[in-house]
Amino acid sequence: MRTVIEPFKIKSVEPIALTTREQREKLIKNAFYNTFYLKSEDITIDLLTDSGTTAMSAKQWGKIMEGDESYAGSKSYYKFENAVKDFTNFKHIIPTHQGRAAERILFSVLGGKGKYIPNNTHFDTTRANIEYAETTAVDLPGEDGTNPEKLGDFKGNLNIAALETLIKKVGKENIPVCMLTVTNNSGGGQPVSMKNIRETKNLLKKYGIPLYLDCCRFAENAYFIKMREKGYKNKSIKEITREMFSYADGCTMSAKKDGLSNTGGFIGTNDDEIAGKAKTLLIITEGFITYGGLARRDLEALAVGFEEVFDENYLKYRIEQVKYFGDKLMESGVPILVPTGGHAVYLNAKRFASHIKPEHYPGQSITCEIFKVGGIRVVEIGSVMFGKKDAKGKHIAPPMELVRCAVPRRVYTNTHIDYTVEAITEVYKNRKKLKGMKISWEPEFLRHFTAKFDYI
Ligand SMILES: *Cc1c(COP(=O)(O)O)cnc(C)c1O
Repeated sequence: MRTVIEPFKIKSVEPIALTTREQREKLIKNAFYNTFYLKSEDITIDLLTDSGTTAMSAKQWGKIMEGDESYAGSKSYYKFENAVKDFTNFKHIIPTHQGRAAERILFSVLGGKGKYIPNNTHFDTTRANIEYAETTAVDLPGEDGTNPEKLGDFKGNLNIAALETLIKKVGKENIPVCMLTVTNNSGGGQPVSMKNIRETKNLLKKYGIPLYLDCCRFAENAYFIKMREKGYKNKSIKEITREMFSYADGCTMSAKKDGLSNTGGFIGTNDDEIAGKAKTLLIITEGFITYGGLARRDLEALAVGFEEVFDENYLKYRIEQVKYFGDKLMESGVPILVPTGGHAVYLNAKRFASHIKPEHYPGQSITCEIFKVGGIRVVEIGSVMFGKKDAKGKHIAPPMELVRCAVPRRVYTNTHIDYTVEAITEVYKNRKKLKGMKISWEPEFLRHFTAKFDYI
């Protein structure tokens, strides 16, 4: 059979809001034209993020009842630790309440003035946590990684030559760690090849710099390796994942993604000294080392999530659904970042709204219009999220202006996707009417979450 079906049936349903255009125009205005301020009860299809929005399985919900809520030494922690060690093989597994808590702890331990942390592309919270620790975050995407229109199998790859140039320029002693984000979220959810992971590790080894994976979507990345990289067709996802981690000295993870759960994260490391310092910080700010800010029942859900995510039928459905979404948009002529990534479709806002300059936030304008047309929530990943200002206050745009339509795991059917495609196509047909925007208020860090906008 050629039709890829959801490898599950639906046991429990949640109603979603159906609103009128008039209502939605008011709602988005009252939300300061920032989709983060919208109330979920007013949203028809929520593609803001795939983070923590997963539908859990009956087995996960069942295990939640078995959570051992002991403060220290909980049974649930050991199930979680075993599940994570099974694919990472790291010596220390330190649970956190989500990914950014793992990042804050790791970069507080490793960062500092005059230090540099490279990555294929830092995710927004990763960059913010590095900069908050007064460290410089450096993006080193591969050649095609910032070209939304060029096809490629592994556009998430890190530029290894650029990494060596950086090491020579700033000195190996000033690079406490090199990160590698799999899949590359801010770079379009694009996978990183095994070859690239291996070669990055080989270069770093020469200079004694450890490699840490930002491994939120390790299973989706492993699936792409299986499908696209020579020599991996007959390997299981677990085998591929283990090989990926075998090149790393540690990791940070938001388990709200490939943990198939609603919350959670962890730091993995083989370094006793880093682990010791991280555990101290964990106790000060997150909780004891056997729960790290999580309810123990969440650790139960994660332990099961880390089994289910290796199911190849699940991964096939997952990646194919995102591809279906991207293919339908392309059939309608909508410019998207190609090829479609693992967890989201990214609209190419530069081409979509080419009459709006980056400093007037084309992606934000598209995002608001998609809500007005279909009650669909998506998010800008471009000048709002990553734009900077030079000394004279002039806007410095990031390489790409994107709008991310993230697909939650096991939540929406392809009819929901069809509806979304119809709405985005409608916005695209009327794109000439899209207006540029300005920021009327912004905070110091991670402005996209709470900034307020208006039309110019
Ligand atoms: C989600 C994400 C994070 C941060 O994790 P949270 O759980 O949201 O704090 C870090 N890196 C990447 C690549 C992510 O996708």
